[in-house]
Parts: sequence; structure tokens; C-alpha cells
Amino acid sequence: MRTSHSVEVAVVGGGPAGAAVAVRLADAGVETALFERWPAPRWRASGVYSSPATRGRLAAIGLGPDTLEALIRPIEAMEVTGPGGAGCRLAYGPPDHACGLDRVRLERTLLDRASACGAQVMEGTVVRGLEPRRRATGVARLDISTGAGQERWEARLIVGADGPTSLVARAHGVDRPVRRFRRAGLTVHRADPAAAPPGVPMTARLAIGRGWYCGVAPVPDGRVNVGVVMSDRELAERLSRTSGPASVIRSVSDSLPGPAAAWQTAIDTDDATVALPLAHRVARRAGPGFLLVGDAAGFVDPLSGEGLHRALISSELAADAVQADRGGDAGALERYDRRMHARFAPRDLVSWMLQLFLARPAMVDYAVARLAQRHGLRKTFGNALADLEPAARILAPRYLLSVLRP
Ligand SMILES: Cc1cc2nc3c(=O)[nH]c(=O)nc-3n(C[C@H](O)[C@H](O)[C@H](O)COP(=O)(O)OP(=O)(O)OC[C@H]3O[C@@H](n4cnc5c(N)ncnc54)[C@H](O)[C@@H]3O)c2cc1C
Repeated sequence: MRTSHSVEVAVVGGGPAGAAVAVRLADAGVETALFERWPAPRWRASGVYSSPATRGRLAAIGLGPDTLEALIRPIEAMEVTGPGGAGCRLAYGPPDHACGLDRVRLERTLLDRASACGAQVMEGTVVRGLEPRRRATGVARLDISTGAGQERWEARLIVGADGPTSLVARAHGVDRPVRRFRRAGLTVHRADPAAAPPGVPMTARLAIGRGWYCGVAPVPDGRVNVGVVMSDRELAERLSRTSGPASVIRSVSDSLPGPAAAWQTAIDTDDATVALPLAHRVARRAGPGFLLVGDAAGFVDPLSGEGLHRALISSELAADAVQADRGGDAGALERYDRRMHARFAPRDLVSWMLQLFLARPAMVDYAVARLAQRHGLRKTFGNALADLEPAARILAPRYLLSVLRP
């Protein structure tokens, strides 16, 4: 049986970007329905390490200090090591530490907040088909599967928050293939017997190897998140030699340069999950009747650790654009696209530049060693990665020369 419903704004996807945009829209009195595939947030290959600025952005959508305390392990530094053993430490705070997030709890909290603000949050509903809006005054149509059957929804505006394989981007003809750097990401949580008490800052790690890198971020409840990224070919080759993704992660984490950490031999606390491919590109992030937020609006690679923060920024810009569009500002959605481009094009360039570095292990070690020696260069690099300084600073020829000159 197919029932019909209508809503002003339909948000497809209830990850951090979709939930945050639903909070903002519903809070501003916009009639909003959110459709999320899974009946409840669950662990999947995704990011947990985020900029110090993330805390403020979550506070701005109504998450109070106690809630943030339960969601975030403060991270005072990221220890970076290169394939040949060069190392440097990127410090964050005090007062503003980077964040190691309890990802599942974050999504639950944001979806509950969206509901509390008045959004209709429909978990366990999959958007199977989407017919874009044809005229300025028309509506888009969504075909949705729920546990109870099929539904047809109409919406004046669609927000695509459906991640790197975005149906909304595909339906509007704006997704573009990414042929270079086809990478896979694998992640799992481990118990950390040496975890500091809750709320006490800890240190994260980023180890760059030959053909892979591994990030280790402390998160709440005495755990670390271990994330490994490698080419799809390398993953296929390793999977053929091991018993599955958990073994691939363990073989990489066992090989990290010392000193040995307690979490390395501890148990996994959830299933190892894989995301493939990681990169997603779009020709534009908005057009008549739709806009894209979070990973749906484009994603390069987790190395720069900006996906979550970007998801929250895009949800802010998108909510402003939707409200301006409702108020009759005909250029609001196009302006959203331009603002997103201006905000993130330099970050994407940094991400592509880092990908080129990864392919040259000797250069990684050289650059890491230079950063270790030069406080000013290191601080600018760490701040640009954490979105605390414009990414353009580390793209400037003068900066690059200072890092790379013999
Ligand atoms: C291995 C890995 C490691 C990462 N590490 C980091 C990191 O350390 N730091 C960082 O900041 N970022 C990291 N990222 C990126 C980060 O996870 C993303 O940027 C972030 O999750 C984007 O949030 P989102 O809401 O846009 O998308 P998602 O989190 O992908 O959420 C999309 C949601 O849409 C739902 N959905 C999709 N299609 C449909 C449909 N048809 N109908 C209904 N629902 C649908 C999905 O179920 C999902 O819940 C990493 C990513 C990966 C894969």
C-alpha cells in the first residue's frame, strides 16, 4: 500500500550533517521531515576525531555542557609519525582541545534534538527513489520504504545529507566519478586499559606507513577508535591473506612504531567496518529544489580529519540558505553553493596535496621532520588542519617552500 504525505523540507540521511540541519530548520519553525535508513544509530566506518571548533558548533545547536562531556574525549595533541620514523606533535589547547567523539551517541543525541525541536524524524526509512522538482513552484517526490510498507512523500525542498553515495546528488545529476586515489577506510573501537579518567585530555596518533595510514583517537568510555586507510587494491590483497577487516586493522596496528600501547593488544569492542570508496565529488552543491550537505556535498579523504566539522558547517550554511529561499530570496541556494565552494575549495586542495605526499614516503618523513623542528610552521599546519586558520595559509608558496626547502 502506498500512502501520500507532504512536507516543506525533506532531509535524506540522519548522520551528523542531516541531523544538524534538521535541528536548525525545525528550531526556526520550518516544517521538516528527516529520513534515515537505519532504525537506530549504529557503528559504521566513519570519523570520530574532530577539530576543537566542533565543541562550539555542537553547543550552538543546543547540546549542553553535560551532554558534550559525555560525547567528547578531549584530545590535547596528535602525534604524527612518518614511514621512516620521523615524528612531530601537533598540540591542541589548552583551552580548546581537539575532540574524540562517541559517534553513535552523537548521532542519537542529534536525532533526539531534531525531534525535540519539532522535526519529524523517521528512522528505519529508506529513500528508494527521488523525482526532482521540475518547476520553481513544484514539488519533489520521494519513494520511501518503511517497516510498514511504501510511502510517497512530496517536498518543496530536498536536503541531501545521505553521505558519499548520495542518491540526492545522483538524482539531480551532479555527482561526478573520482578515479584517482581509490581508497578504503576500515575502523573499529578497542578497549584502552590505559585510558585516562573521563574528561582528562589524551593524545591521538597518526602513523603514516608505506601504502597506508592509521589514526588512533581516544574516545569516551575508555576506548580508542582505530582507523586504517589504504588503496582498494592493497585492501583486497590483504583480505586475501587474512580472515577479514578486523585482522587487517590488527596487522596494521601491530606494526605501528613503538612504544607499545595498552590498546594494541586489547579486545575490539565492536565490529570492524569498511567504507569504500571514500572520495565523492559533485559538480555543484545546490540547484533548484535541492541542496547537499556533509559528505553528500563532496569528500576527499579522512587524513585531514575535517569531515565531521565540515558536516556541521555545511548544515549551518544550508539552514540559512533554506530560510532565505523560503523568504523569497531567489538566489539563496546558488549562493549556498558559492559559499560552500569558497569555504572548502582550499581545504580540498590541502587534502589532494596530502594524497600526493602519501605516495612519496621519503617526502612525508622529510616534511614531518621539518615540522618537528619549526614551531611556527607546525602550529600553522595543525591549525589549518583543524580549521582554526584558513587552509590557504599552508597552500601559500612561501609556506610550502619553508617546509620543503633543503
Ligand atoms: C574510515 C573513515 C574514517 C573517517 N575519519 C574521520 C575523522 O577522523 N574525522 C572526521 O572529521 N571525519 C572522518 N571521516 C569522515 C566522516 O565520517 C564524515 O565526514 C561524516 O560522517 C559526514 O557526515 P554526514 O552526515 O555527511 O554523512 P554520513 O555520516 O555518511 O551519514 C549519511 C546518513 O545517510 C543515511 N542514508 C544514506 N542513504 C540513505 C537513503 N537512501 N535513505 C535514508 N537514509 C540514507 C545513512 O544511513 C547515514 O546515516 C571518516 C570517514 C571514514 C569512512
